[in-house]
Amino acid sequence: CPTNALSEKNDINRVLRMLNDKTKEVVVQVAPSVRVALAEEFGFPIGTFTEGKMVTALRRLGFDHIFDVNTGADFTIVEESKELINRLTKGTGPLPMFTSCCPGWYKYMEMFEPEFRHNISTCKSPNEMLGALVKYYFQQQNKEVRIVSIMPCTAKKHEVVKYGDIDAILTTRELAQLIKYKNIDYKSLPDGKLDQPFGLYSGAGLIFGATGGVMEAALRTASQHLNKTQKPVDIEIVRDSIGRKEVEIKTDTKTLKVAIINGLNNARLFLKDLKEGKTQVDFVEIMACPGGCVNGGGQPLIDYSKIQLSEVIKKRAKPLYLNDKKSQVRASHENEQVKKVYKELLGENDELIHRLLHNK
Ligand code: SF4
Repeated sequence: CPTNALSEKNDINRVLRMLNDKTKEVVVQVAPSVRVALAEEFGFPIGTFTEGKMVTALRRLGFDHIFDVNTGADFTIVEESKELINRLTKGTGPLPMFTSCCPGWYKYMEMFEPEFRHNISTCKSPNEMLGALVKYYFQQQNKEVRIVSIMPCTAKKHEVVKYGDIDAILTTRELAQLIKYKNIDYKSLPDGKLDQPFGLYSGAGLIFGATGGVMEAALRTASQHLNKTQKPVDIEIVRDSIGRKEVEIKTDTKTLKVAIINGLNNARLFLKDLKEGKTQVDFVEIMACPGGCVNGGGQPLIDYSKIQLSEVIKKRAKPLYLNDKKSQVRASHENEQVKKVYKELLGENDELIHRLLHNK
């Protein structure tokens, strides 16, 4: 809550108990936008990208495996793009298709706009997908692990009870509190490396943290199927949405109409237009928080007497796009680690893939 009248249920003690219990290994998985905001709690400027320090801090806190929700986002994109293409070409579900990764939006839809429940993608969120894959991966080795997620989001805490794969969720702010409680000097930490097989991600997985990022990531993969010649990577037209943006994406086989919405009031007005036939689109990204997850409810608090919200969103989103640009792999379906998991862990078994990665 921007006025601090409400705050998240603090789960730090729960996580400390897990870390102190040596009978089970503890996995931690971190969402894309945490790494561009965590450092603000330690005196760094807004939007400083400190993935390496964050990994070392998690290692020093005692987590046994450090995985990345960006990799989960790559799985989400592969699954969501497949679903979109099937809806577009085979009519397997209603259009427009809505993204399903934001629990704030999902809950809003369930409570206030249930007539759209079949429009929402059946994909679990990246955090839920990764949780299911990690639990399954360790089960195959006869190991039971506990999973802690670090999220920019207070609404994500609901994902602990939704499927039972995730055992606790800390916000970016709570992780910072934990690091301070353990007297870890964040500023002086060396860079650490994520663990495999769920620590290699594409640029598309990283930009999930910003508004338009899910859309761009999905289009990078979906357009491979819709295009015969073009292979678009930087789809800048879908970036920097303030509230609501509707654009057309031309492919070799079809012109896709897409919408990028952030803020639930904008979602409400958009759905009203959709119901009244005032707009028509194929695919919609909806994020509850203005600017997307970089501005999530669990991120470090900002003194808005000193800086405008739009500036904060820009500063935190910028390093996501810069690092995406520098990535060797830009599209989710080209992530070698993702391909390997589909082949070796999931055996390309459609029933298993659906059970682990989809809602229904
Ligand atoms: Fe959570 Fe906000 Fe991101 Fe939705 S947009 S997943 S509510 S941080």
